[in-house]
Amino acid sequence: SHAERSNQRYGVYRPGIEQEARKKYELENDLYFAVERGELFVMYQPFVYGNKSEIKGMEALLRWRHPVHGMIPPSTFIPMAEENGLIHQLGWWVLKEVCREAGPVLKRHRNWTAAVNLSSRQLEHSGFIKKLPDLVHAYEIAPHQLELEITERTMMQPDRMLPVLKRLKEYGFRLSLDDFGTGYSSLSQLKELPVDTLKIDRSFIEDMNEKQKNAAIVKTIIHAAGNLNMKVVAEGIEKAEQAQELLAMDCFYFQGYYFSVPKTIQEFSWSREA
Ligand code: C2E
Ligand code: MG
Ligand code: MG
Ligand code: MG
Repeated sequence: SHAERSNQRYGVYRPGIEQEARKKYELENDLYFAVERGELFVMYQPFVYGNKSEIKGMEALLRWRHPVHGMIPPSTFIPMAEENGLIHQLGWWVLKEVCREAGPVLKRHRNWTAAVNLSSRQLEHSGFIKKLPDLVHAYEIAPHQLELEITERTMMQPDRMLPVLKRLKEYGFRLSLDDFGTGYSSLSQLKELPVDTLKIDRSFIEDMNEKQKNAAIVKTIIHAAGNLNMKVVAEGIEKAEQAQELLAMDCFYFQGYYFSVPKTIQEFSWSREA
């Protein structure tokens, strides 16, 4: 039969490990060329303040449009780039691209910030850190208009990271702890960190209503941030009620599909007289 013949030729079809590994290998290879082929681009998701949802800035989110496989999510290609070291080039490209594209918006709105995600590996590279002030200066962006987001997990090696974070603060950049609540930093560690913003992970916001424990965690984070003089942003707001509930808990900064999905800089500028 046809099936038997194709089994002979290709062996028994076994999706899974082998195919996955092959695809991963191919993607990883393609990623090396993605920048020069112009396949990478940045989307911007606004974050807003208060019950009038005033824009205070936006987060840059990297995108890869693969010519064959279509959109590859950052959760797939960022870990690859972290593993093979490509993250240094990609990360620098993102920062430059954000300065280039979003620079004019930031110049029109000096009280807005652009947030850029950094991988821990980028922080280990002192050359990268030292180049940052010149980069923003070249695009006439004030250092305090650039907010560098690192995940709470990165801070699991505080001894190595702390000097780097302090350096970034000396340069005038803002720092935020992303996906907060999913790592294991204790509140006593938190007070040692020169961090401006805590971003409460979406997973706690998602089912705050159904799960009392999540609501309790969210309250605790908001409270801690207040005591430590940190700004707190709730991520992943999809419904008006979530924002209402958070406002009642004294959380004033929001980000999520309810306010806006990530947009290209052109879409962003049109939709918000930015
Ligand atoms: P993140 O920094 O926590 O970014 C927020 C993620 O949540 C984004 O996913 C965003 O599109 C998504 N999101 C925003 N609002 C909502 C909502 O209301 N509902 C839901 N379900 N999702 C929402 P995205 O763009 O897929 O990025 C995933 C992660 O990839 C980011 O999480 C960040 O950790 C990483 N990432 C993205 N761009 C970069 C980058 O340039 N460099 C590095 N190192 N990491 C990046
Ligand atoms: Mg982020
Ligand atoms: Mg996050
Ligand atoms: Mg996240």
